[in-house]
Amino acid sequence: MQISVIKIVESTTVDGPGLRTTLYAAGCNHRCKGCHNPQSWDINYGTMADIEEVAQRLLATGEDITFSGGDPMFQLEAFTQLASIIKAKSNRNIWCYTGYTFEQLLRNPKALNLLKNINVLVDGRFVEELKSKDILFRGSSNQRLIDVQKSLKVGEIVIYEPMNLLSPLLMKYKRVDNSSLLTPHS
Ligand code: SF4
Repeated sequence: MQISVIKIVESTTVDGPGLRTTLYAAGCNHRCKGCHNPQSWDINYGTMADIEEVAQRLLATGEDITFSGGDPMFQLEAFTQLASIIKAKSNRNIWCYTGYTFEQLLRNPKALNLLKNINVLVDGRFVEELKSKDILFRGSSNQRLIDVQKSLKVGEIVIYEPMNLLSPLLMKYKRVDNSSLLTPHS
């Protein structure tokens, strides 16, 4: 199977915690107002690549992985296969961006097959009126960071807390004083 790829960017810090390798895929039908990359809507904007080769390239970086676009759900079967290969060969953490909501995806059995291999889903369309620079890893405040595996396990949406990935030292600071992570009171 092949997948339409716009680009693969290593060591990004904006598509999830830590240094990640992000795969930007072509194809999206959400047409969000204010989308920063409307050329990505066209599946032909990307270059067709063999999924096994893409998986090897992503794994070779040694970094955790983010699926972005476009909307990866536009190539649902390809991303399902890609995530499956990655998880079979590694314990890489996978984030996935989509314009669909988690609830919409749950109604699609094919999407569920992909979600089983996704750690965090950043869901929902970009809403220009809700655009904010003060939220982590998202463009607008309607979008959620969803801990997919916990959500599937308990049967309700569990929001992923970025705080969980802060260093133990910062976590210690937070326990001492919730008012500011930057002010240690140890
Ligand atoms: S889902 Fe993302 S890529 Fe698609 S139109 Fe919306 S902002 Fe653009």
